[in-house]
Amino acid sequence: MIDSYGRNINYLRISITDLCNLRCRYCMPEKGIEKIPHNEILRLEEIEELARIFVSLGVNKIRITGGEPLIRKGILNLIENIGRIEGLKDFAMTTNGIFLKKYARNLKNAGLNRVNISLDTLNEKKYRDITKGGDIKEVLEGIEEAKKVGLTPIKLNVVLIGGLNEDEIKDFVNLTKNENIDVRFIELMPIGQAKDWSLDKFISNKIVLEKVKELKEIIKEDISSPARYYKLPNSKGKVGLINPISCKFCDNCNRIRLTADGKIKTCLHSNAEIDLRIPLRMGEDLRKIITEVVINKPKEHNLENGEYIERNMTTIGG
Ligand code: SAM
Ligand code: SF4
Repeated sequence: MIDSYGRNINYLRISITDLCNLRCRYCMPEKGIEKIPHNEILRLEEIEELARIFVSLGVNKIRITGGEPLIRKGILNLIENIGRIEGLKDFAMTTNGIFLKKYARNLKNAGLNRVNISLDTLNEKKYRDITKGGDIKEVLEGIEEAKKVGLTPIKLNVVLIGGLNEDEIKDFVNLTKNENIDVRFIELMPIGQAKDWSLDKFISNKIVLEKVKELKEIIKEDISSPARYYKLPNSKGKVGLINPISCKFCDNCNRIRLTADGKIKTCLHSNAEIDLRIPLRMGEDLRKIITEVVINKPKEHNLENGEYIERNMTTIGG
């Protein structure tokens, strides 16, 4: 699918649930978010059908996300059925990793290629604090299991939060020395719970290059990746910097998103959404609807002028 700016839209991110087993301070309120009514959440068969239609239109990369995708009942069946779709070349998941130890092998066997794991600290106490109760040991065991079964290359997503984890930048970077792991530092965005956070929490990820002077920029293998990549001399893994606010990657953006309640979003940072759930349930021609929506993907976001989305990240999946 080519949009009106000539971009080849081949990457679909699907949020399969708005629910989560953690309460990361910047993402989820302590009591959880207001649940989307059950009948408005896409059923697994509907997600599969939509995935099939998207792939038939040219999508060849799918990422499953959430909320926390591993808490959705029937996840392995879903992975197996999507993994079987002919034409799909890259099939990944973003997870907090808590249930990864339990699921990694079955996910791999079901056809998932790789995982991105969100981990904002390496410190047990801080992890419990940021996630309001999560046990980092489970995540670390999950990462080991993912490596063991070959859900690789593994990418760790680290949201940088001023006053909270900038003292751990070096420790994260060092993880790339001996292992083929990519560590990606993501700038905190003022959406979800972080909407009302004080300015000192929002730090530029340039700080990574200031703190680790040995990092050298390398040429990106994939121009549509939002990350700029760097390496330590002779390291096996890479360090990525993702700065959605200060550095735009809209010109090369190849992605679209499907929310847990069946809305298609052609830009993460826009409130514009088109409902696919009702047309799907009414048997309408979704290929036509999707093609039109994609053609109208906006040229770029407007974050630098303070236009932030209203939806919580958990229904979009990041
Ligand atoms: N629960 C899964 C996880 O945490 O990996 C998948 C969903 S989570 C919404 C996807 C990603 O969005 C996570 O890496 C999380 O850190 C990131 N995220 C959530 N809120 C954010 C914010 N305000 N700014 C930057 N990243 C955010
Ligand atoms: Fe859950 Fe992921 Fe949000 Fe954390 S970032 S609360 S793990 S959805």
